[in-house]
Amino acid sequence: MSSIETVKPVVTTKPSTRQACISKQMIIPAKYAQMTADEISRQIQDKKQQFGDELVILAHHYQKSEIIPFADYVGDSLQLAKSAAANRAAKHIIFCGVHFMAETADMLTTADQKVYLPDAMAGCSMADMANLAQLERAWQLLEATYVEPVIPVTYINSTAEVKAFVGDHNGVIVTSSNAEMILKRVFAQHQRVLFLPDQHLGRNTAFQLGIPLAEMAIWNPKKDQLLPHDSNQDPQNLKVILWKGRCCVHQQYTVDQIAQLRQQIPDLKVIVHPECPIEVVQASDFYGSTKKIIDVVAASPAHTKWAIGTDNNLVNRMIRDLPDHDIVSIDPTAFSCITMNRIRLAHLLWTLEEIENGSTLQQITVDKATQISSLKALDRMLEM
Ligand code: SF4
Repeated sequence: MSSIETVKPVVTTKPSTRQACISKQMIIPAKYAQMTADEISRQIQDKKQQFGDELVILAHHYQKSEIIPFADYVGDSLQLAKSAAANRAAKHIIFCGVHFMAETADMLTTADQKVYLPDAMAGCSMADMANLAQLERAWQLLEATYVEPVIPVTYINSTAEVKAFVGDHNGVIVTSSNAEMILKRVFAQHQRVLFLPDQHLGRNTAFQLGIPLAEMAIWNPKKDQLLPHDSNQDPQNLKVILWKGRCCVHQQYTVDQIAQLRQQIPDLKVIVHPECPIEVVQASDFYGSTKKIIDVVAASPAHTKWAIGTDNNLVNRMIRDLPDHDIVSIDPTAFSCITMNRIRLAHLLWTLEEIENGSTLQQITVDKATQISSLKALDRMLEM
């Protein structure tokens, strides 16, 4: 058995599109701070009318509630990117979400459709936990360790460069809705996967498919090291190698919070997102993607008591929009996605004015080669 730490890896120097975006150093002009919320809202509305069908505004489910009324579509990242692609008349697509979402939209839309992210700093902290250089190093070490091919499986919450690498290495993209089905298909043909960047989605999904924790290990990209479940674990017996990434929002929910709520609220049903740690998912009644959480709760009989473990911007809107249901957040004090919440009404107006002036300051582009490779991984997902 070859050791997993014996190969000296080669490091890529290619800058990421995320770095390129941040280096634009976009700072919102001070004039917007002098405007009232009403003035900003009015001007956004006027500009939306001026642009007409040439503009589409997308908002992720976790976006601030002040943005939602201006969105043409509200949804999860892939659903929104597909909506943008379906609106061929829309030359300008403003994605009120995070960087990888705007990248995905750019990859799925045509060359004459431009995608904009209102704040360059709105990245996904989870996606940023896996960069191409780290992945290339991990890959070299894994290739030296295993004779059989390891299949890279990346969550859609990853950078375009990571998706491209996965596409070029026979891998596939998953979403939180289809991760279980896709992993099952992958395991029908292959014996080992590298799942990135979210260890929790990978662990929860593999566990649900009957793979014991003892056959999973964590890859620490900062130390280029495999962290086994226990010291006797033989790397050759591993089926799932989980990248050490996580979502700062979903890791806030705990088993103790759920236990306390169950004590306080009889007949409580608990539903959480699979980006939560496995103990939290196991302590819940249901788990699933953001869309599944919305659908399951909305379809439940009136007065069903729910505790929800996902971003509180969404949970608070569900409390407001589903008054016949008794909904609480597992932790009402938990913070919402910090980076996504950088986008405020003022950023939306600023973006509209920049577009009007012909500026590409907030535009997100994925180069052709990265796009072609990424789409290989996306197409494999769609084929499955
Ligand atoms: S909620 Fe988590 S996974 Fe989603 S964009 Fe924010 S940090 Fe990324």
